[in-house]
Formats: sequence, C-alpha cells, structure tokens
Amino acid sequence: MLMRGGEDVGFGKQQCIDWYLVTLMNGMEISSTYLYTTCSSSGGGGGGRSNSGSGGANNNDIKSTITNPCLKILVNDIISKGIEFTTEQTLNSIFGSNSKINLTFAQANYSSADTDGSTTPPSVVLNSDQTIKSFDITLKLNEKTMPNAAKEYISATVIHETLHAYFSYRDKELNPTGQHNEMATDIYVAWFINAIKNIYPTISDFNAKALAWGGLEDTAGWDTFRATYPYDAGQITLANDEFHDGELGTKCSN
Ligand SMILES: [Zn+2]
Repeated sequence: MLMRGGEDVGFGKQQCIDWYLVTLMNGMEISSTYLYTTCSSSGGGGGGRSNSGSGGANNNDIKSTITNPCLKILVNDIISKGIEFTTEQTLNSIFGSNSKINLTFAQANYSSADTDGSTTPPSVVLNSDQTIKSFDITLKLNEKTMPNAAKEYISATVIHETLHAYFSYRDKELNPTGQHNEMATDIYVAWFINAIKNIYPTISDFNAKALAWGGLEDTAGWDTFRATYPYDAGQITLANDEFHDGELGTKCSN
C-alpha cells in the first residue's frame, strides 16, 4: 500500500497570480482551467534557498529544501504554476503572501519504501478570536523512492500533500484520516484530476483519475468505489503501482 503524507521546500521570492477559467454551477466550482501566471518582483532562481536576509515586508515564504534535482524541479514547477484550492484560495495566496503562514517542502529518509511522502503536523498559533496568528507546515517526499517514480506520480504526491496542507490550514489541524476521507469524495477526486491535468495536459482521463486515488486506499470512498467498479479499481491500483515504479508515465531521471 502506498501512503502519502506531507512535509518541507524553499523557494525564490516571487509574487505571482495564477489566472484560471473557472466554471461555477450553483456556486460550486465544477471545473477550473489554468490559463497562465503573471509574476511581479524578482524572479525565483533555483529552489533550495534558505533564509538569506531577514526578509522584506512582503515575500513568498513557500520554501523548498529539496536537493534531489528531479524532485526539486517538479516541486518548483508546482509552486510556480500554483494550485487553486477554491476560487479564492490558492497555494500562493495562502502560503506565499503572509510571512506568518509558511509552507516548506523537504525530502526525507523514511523507514518504509511504501511511504511516498508525508505532512508533518503544523505548528499553529491562534489569536484570541481563534483566527490564525501563525502557521507553519512541512511537506516531505521520500528521497529514496520518489526519484525513481514517474514525474506524474511525483507531482500527484506533491498535490496530495498540498491538499493536506490546505485542509490543515483551513481546519487549524492535521487530521490525516478525516482529510483522506474528504479527498476521496467526488468533488475532490474531480478537483485532483483537474490539478494533474493542469500540469500534464495530455495525460489520459483514466490515469489522472488513478493518480487522484493514490494514497486513499483506507477510505470509505475507496471502499465504495471498489465495490461499485471492481475492474476499474483494480486497474487504478495497477496504474499507481506502475507510475510508482516509473513503468508508466515519464521517468524522472534526467
Ligand atoms: Zn495523505
């Protein structure tokens, strides 16, 4: 069984806005197509930058400490493209525009080869009115196994972990089981497929869906899906295994 969690990354200073074509139905987002990104201020350079200087008033404080070249490129690509959690909240609007709300991507050495990544419980400080005063969360990727996976699988793992980060920010706590159950709903499976397709426009619908289900094997949503569509469920598990081993998709070694 493959598990996804989340943890840390450093990144250059950049203020970017991602523009999407969003389709709403009854106030609910049903599709979102990434159009382009506009950025102001100095550009990002390579990741892996740590805290040089004390930081200005407004800075992008999404960080990456990843050194593996392949993982670094894919993580930075997602940071620069951005991820939209809701029509108003994106990876960069939440974590990249407030110096008190920080997200770090890192690589880690896990004891289990089945762990793709993880999200560490956030450090949260609340104001007296229960709003967030400061929030720090770290997303980690398995430095031994992930570089051998397909690029699509690595990006899916990063997206999965960023969803943990978003839910943890929204709920002020990391609740992996509850968050996985929410990810395994129709809305979030569709959201995930869209997020993957923004990065890999030519990926098949089925493979995008397979990646969306990665790491959700312990959820009620998966049990229901498997009971309803046993053949598809088997193919999804197989596709994830092949993406994980780099047999499907584009191998990350470059
Ligand atoms: Zn997870």
